[in-house]
Formats: sequence, structure tokens, C-alpha cells
Amino acid sequence: MLLGLFLSALAMTLIVAVRYLIVSGGFALATRAHAPGLYAGQDVQIRSELFWSLVSAAIYGVPAGIVAWGWREHGWTQVYTDLHAYPLWWLPVSILLCLVAHDAWFYWTHRWMHRPKPFKLAHAVHHASRPPTAWAAMSFHPIEALTGAVVIPTLVFVIPLHPIALGVVLSVMTLMGVTNHMGWEMFPRRLVNGPAGRWLITASHHERHHAQYRCNYGLYFRFWDRLCGTDRGLGDFTAKPAKSAKARAAAGDAGVAAGGEPSRAG
Ligand SMILES: [Zn+2]
Ligand SMILES: [Zn+2]
Repeated sequence: MLLGLFLSALAMTLIVAVRYLIVSGGFALATRAHAPGLYAGQDVQIRSELFWSLVSAAIYGVPAGIVAWGWREHGWTQVYTDLHAYPLWWLPVSILLCLVAHDAWFYWTHRWMHRPKPFKLAHAVHHASRPPTAWAAMSFHPIEALTGAVVIPTLVFVIPLHPIALGVVLSVMTLMGVTNHMGWEMFPRRLVNGPAGRWLITASHHERHHAQYRCNYGLYFRFWDRLCGTDRGLGDFTAKPAKSAKARAAAGDAGVAAGGEPSRAG
């Protein structure tokens, strides 16, 4: 039994790590084609993003592996494999419910992590990417990774999910995690600046979080940011590129470069 549990946790860790390397690697290559030189001079930062992301892969993989083992061995969770066990409309609804629940959890834990103590202790690792790259998708301190790692293993106990729905949720999670950090907007301007963009979060929105810190905390939807008055609109990648930590330090912004949170801007 213990061996099965261990192998399941190990397999899930490897899956999360390989998924990260493939998706982040793919978008890093796309970045090279779309905006050559965008990550120039960021090798040291990228190495650190890789390190923290691979540590996070284990933190995400272990609980997922334990739950997957319990599902196979003991029928844990509400995951159902017969597509017709629930009406078909439930499939998209269950996906949306997962995204809405994850978004709410992320917004409030993220806002909490911007309080001085948790920021210093944990969230500073994520914000050490200045500006982040496609490799920063899972670049979290283990404490922060843990807050993310519990989400899917909890949701599968609460919301009946078909593996298709689970696959879509995990894909959206991975895709948005990578593209929101890659330093350019891949969605058409018409979508980002149109009615859908008023409610959906893409790279332009999260870019402003990394530039200004105390705003734009959401993950998928702008709902909570708008409701709580923390939405400061979209960032602009065409503006002058954000300075690297080194350049900031040289410019006297040492507190920020050292991982501290800048005072409320604007
Ligand atoms: Zn981020
Ligand atoms: Zn943050």
C-alpha cells in the first residue's frame, strides 16, 4: 500500500514537472519568435524560476498523487467516468464552477500574501521575477505552492467532475499560468480591450500586478478585483520595458530589488 502511494505521488510530481517544462518551454520559444531578446539578461532569474517551479511541482504532485491513489484504490472523490452519469450540461457548468472557486481562493490568498509578513516569508519569491518570464508560471515559495496545491485535490471531493472537465480545468490553469507571465499579450487586442476582456484576466492584466503589486490580484476573472476596488486596468507591454532587478538596484530602488514590496504606487 505504501509503495503504491509513493509511486502515485512520484508519478504525479513527474507529470506536473514535465507538463511545466513542455508548456513553459514552448511559450519561451514562442516568445523568442514573437519578441526576440525579450528575456535577454534574465538568465540568472530564469534559473531561479526553474528551481522554484520544480520544487513546486513536487508540492503540487504529492497531494494530487495521494488523491489519485485514493480514487483508484478506495473510490475517493466525486470523479465519475461514465459521461452520462450526469446531464451533459453539467460538464461545462462543472468546469466553470472549478474556475470560479479557484479564482476566489486565489484572489483572497493572494491578497493575504501581499500583507507584509506573508509577503516577506513567501510571496516575495514570485515577485523576485522582475519582469517575469514564461518560466515563472510555478515560481512560488513552498508555502505559496501549498495554497495552490490544495485546490484541485479539494475540488474533486466537492464537485462531481468527469476526467474531461478535470483535463480542461488543468489545461486552463497551466496555459494561463504560463501566458500571464510571459511578457506579451497573445490574445487579440479586440478581445482583451472588448467586453470579454472587462471580465477575463490575461497577460495584460497580470502584468500590472507584477508592475504595481497592490492591485489586479485575480487569476481568471476580474470579478473580485472589480468588486473590491483593486482592479487598476490593463498593463501596457508597448510601454518601456520593465527594468531588471539589477537595473532597479542600480537606480536606487534597492528595497524592491531585495524582495521588498514597494510602497503603494499611484
Ligand atoms: Zn504572477
Ligand atoms: Zn502578488
